[in-house]
Amino acid sequence: MSRFWSPLVHRLTPYVPGEQPRMADLVKLNTNESPYGPSPRALEAMKAAADNGMRLYPDPESLRLRTVLGERVGLEAGNVFVGNGSDEVLAHAFQAFFGHGEPILFADVTYSFYKVYCGLYDLPYRLVPLDEDMGIQVADYAGPCGGVVLANPNAPTGMALGLDEVRRLLDMHPDRVVLVDEAYVDFGAESAVSLVKTYPNLLVVQTFSKSRALAGARVGFAFAQPELIEGLTRVKDSFNSYPLDRIAQAGATAAVEDEDWFLDSVEKVISTRRVLSAKLGDLGFKVLPSQANFVYVQHADRDAAELAAHLRERAIIVRHLRGVRTSSWLRITVGTDQQCEMLLSALREILLRNC
Ligand code: PMP
Repeated sequence: MSRFWSPLVHRLTPYVPGEQPRMADLVKLNTNESPYGPSPRALEAMKAAADNGMRLYPDPESLRLRTVLGERVGLEAGNVFVGNGSDEVLAHAFQAFFGHGEPILFADVTYSFYKVYCGLYDLPYRLVPLDEDMGIQVADYAGPCGGVVLANPNAPTGMALGLDEVRRLLDMHPDRVVLVDEAYVDFGAESAVSLVKTYPNLLVVQTFSKSRALAGARVGFAFAQPELIEGLTRVKDSFNSYPLDRIAQAGATAAVEDEDWFLDSVEKVISTRRVLSAKLGDLGFKVLPSQANFVYVQHADRDAAELAAHLRERAIIVRHLRGVRTSSWLRITVGTDQQCEMLLSALREILLRNC
């Protein structure tokens, strides 16, 4: 509490980020980073940018990066916005599009930052409950609203809606922005980017942090028609937000250009996820059908927080989220095959010995 804070700051409940411990030999399966690292071409481009360009300001418009991102999906630079992580892109989107007075709709179990942005920007919201199977029912999103935010695949469940469902949502709210947060889309779900040309109310947000393994570079991006991109740009420029730095722009551009590395690491995650899900099932876990680089699991008769604590004693970190619908579940990032085997053998031991 502080007498200097405005009433808004008193009301804020800040987001609690996943831990980033510095211990050596940690099996870190708590924040959905890539276990494989970025494309070597991206690393080279970043080193070259560091060696040669740091005296100069970066391109404030990230034009080259926006051009290659657009080209990859049949769009133009004017359809692409970039920011310092998709968190920043989301922040600008909440400010640019959702201040209509009516509540913004998003799921009761989804990326917890959405609520934080609503608090920060004083925007009303309504939580739409997931169904019994932890899925999203688009029919529940009907009626007047200030906009819709859909994480697809959803986090922390990993479950995704198909394009028909996304289209239904867009048709329901032609005068409101439907923001589809596709942070995890590359691991098997369908991207809504193919709908951008048809729907002026669609904003698709993606990131380099997961499938392209550049979480440390903080690069996120969005696809939309120019009207929405201009709205985002107006907010960004009004804040005088930092443009992407030269290293981030160079690395991200090279990462987009290295499609083979991207496809290979995504394929490895998908195949490990399949094996991990089956083996967790054998250990008595209910495993939601994930299309992300993590799995969401619940054990029939063991407390999730205790399991997480026992894993931590063995230097394996997974994510346990408190909350009415989430406290009996664990979210586990799909690591390398070796990391997943270490997780599974630790779980076998914990389940057997109860410690
Ligand atoms: N959206 C979702 C659903 C996420 O889980 C995350 C990662 N925590 C983000 C967005 C933000 O990712 P970044 O800022 O690293 O792009």
